[in-house]
Amino acid sequence: MDFRIYNTMGREKQLFKPLKAGEAGIYTCGPTVYHYAHIGNMRSYVAEDGLVRAMRFLGWKVKRVMNITDVGHLVSDADTGEDKMEQGARREGKSAWDIAKFYTEAFFKDFDALNCARPDVVCPATDYIKEMIDLGLTLEKKGFTYPIAGDGVYFDTAKLPDYGKLAGRAHVEGIKEGARVEANAAKRNPVDFAVWKFAAPGEQRQMEWDSPWGKGFPGWHMECSAMAMKHLGDTIDIHCGGEDHVPVHHTNEIAQSEGATGKPFSNYWMHVRFLVTGDAGKMSKSSGEFLTLASVTGRGYDPLAYRYYCLLTHYRKQLEFSWEAVEAAARGLDGLRALALKVKEEAGGAAPAADRGAKYFKDFEAALADDVNLPAALAVLWETLKDGSIPAAQRYAFALKAEEVTALDLFRVKEAGELAPELAALITERETARKNKDWKKSDELRKALSDKGVLIEDTPKGTKWKLARG
Ligand code: AMP
Ligand code: ZN
Repeated sequence: MDFRIYNTMGREKQLFKPLKAGEAGIYTCGPTVYHYAHIGNMRSYVAEDGLVRAMRFLGWKVKRVMNITDVGHLVSDADTGEDKMEQGARREGKSAWDIAKFYTEAFFKDFDALNCARPDVVCPATDYIKEMIDLGLTLEKKGFTYPIAGDGVYFDTAKLPDYGKLAGRAHVEGIKEGARVEANAAKRNPVDFAVWKFAAPGEQRQMEWDSPWGKGFPGWHMECSAMAMKHLGDTIDIHCGGEDHVPVHHTNEIAQSEGATGKPFSNYWMHVRFLVTGDAGKMSKSSGEFLTLASVTGRGYDPLAYRYYCLLTHYRKQLEFSWEAVEAAARGLDGLRALALKVKEEAGGAAPAADRGAKYFKDFEAALADDVNLPAALAVLWETLKDGSIPAAQRYAFALKAEEVTALDLFRVKEAGELAPELAALITERETARKNKDWKKSDELRKALSDKGVLIEDTPKGTKWKLARG
C-alpha cells in the first residue's frame, strides 16, 4: 500500500518510492553505549519501531539495520574532547570494552521491554574498522581529505558543493559564523570533521587500531556511512535518527557517503523530535542527569505504559515529559487492555481473519500510511473496540492484527501480584528516605503502606513487599 513519509530532505511529506519494488532498507542510528539510554533516546527507538511495524503492516518487506556506537563518539560534536567510551571507562573504573558490553546489554533490555522489534542487523562500530578505513581511503583518493599533524585526517567540506543540504545551507553558514576560538584552528573550514583521529598527546587510549594514517580510531560519522552502505547498498531507502542528528551527524554521513560514491546516500530522511523535560530542556546523557526506563518502572509503571505514552504523540511533535502524562498514559493503557479483554471474552476467544475491507481497517491503514500517524491509528483502535455495532469476533480479530503495530500487550491479564503505581511510588520514596537515613519519614511511609495493606520487609537485597491478607 502507498506510504507517505515526511522527508527532512525537501521538508515535505512525500510518497515513498522504494529502490526495489515492495521493499524498504532502513538504517537507524543506534545508541552510544557509554551510559544507560535515557527515555528521550527511547522515544526515538519507539518511533522508529513504529515506522518499521507500520510499513510491515502495510505490506512492505523491511530490512532494518542499526549500529551500536562503541568507539569514536567524542564529547564534543566539533571532534574535540574525550571519547565517550573512554570517559565511561574512567567513570566506572572498567575497561572501555566492558563498558560497551554492559551498556549494550542494558540498552537491549529496555528495547525489548518496550516491545521494539529487534533490527535485522545490529552492527557494533568496532566490528567494522576495516570498512571505515577503506571508506577513508576512497575519500582520500578522491581528494576529499587532508591530514592535520598529531590530530587526524579531516574531510574538507568545501570540496562538496552541496555540503549541508540536509540542514539547509543557512544552517551551515550559521555554524561557520558561530565557530568559536576553541574550534580547531588547523581545520580548513570550521565544519570539517574527522574521518580518522589519533590519540590526543599524552592520552593512553584503550581502543585503537593501525591504519595507513597511523594508529588511531575512526571519526564518529564514519561508522554509519560504512555500515549502512555495507548492509543496504550505496543508496538506501530511509535513514532515521533523532532531530539532533540533522546538522552534524547526518550531514557528515551524507558528505562521506556521497563523496565516496557520487550517488545519493539516502532517499528519505526521517527525524524524531525530542522528548523534553519542562524545566531541564532536552534530556542528555552527557549531563549525567536523566531519566531511564528504570526510573519509570521504579515508580511501578509497566514499561509499555511508556511505549503507549510515546505512541500518543506524533513523532514529528516535540514530546513534553511529565509524570502526570505518564500516569494518564498508564491509566489509558489499563483502559484499553480492559476493553480489549472484554471484547475477547464477548468473542468467546475465537478470532476469524480480520476484515481487511472494513472501514475501520482501512482507516487504521490510512493513518499508518500517512507518515506513521500512530495517534490516529490508536484512536481508530479505541473507537472500533467500543463499537457495539461490529460483531465482537471481528473487533477481536482487528485488535489482534493491530497489535502487530501497537505492540502494547493488549490482551495481557493483570497479574494478581502487581502493585498499583501509587503504592510502588511510596516504596521508592521510602527507599530514598532510608538511603538518606531519614528514619522518621521511612517509618511514616511504612505505616502508610501497611494502612493500604502492603507489608514491607527490608532485606540486604533491598525492600520486599507482600500484601496483607484478610
Ligand atoms: P545517542 O545514544 O546519544 O547516540 O542517541 C541515540 C538516539 O537517541 C539518536 O537517534 C538521538 O538522536 C536520539 N535522542 C537523543 N536525545 C533525545 C531526546 N531527548 N529525545 C528523543 N531522541 C533523542
Ligand atoms: Zn548514525
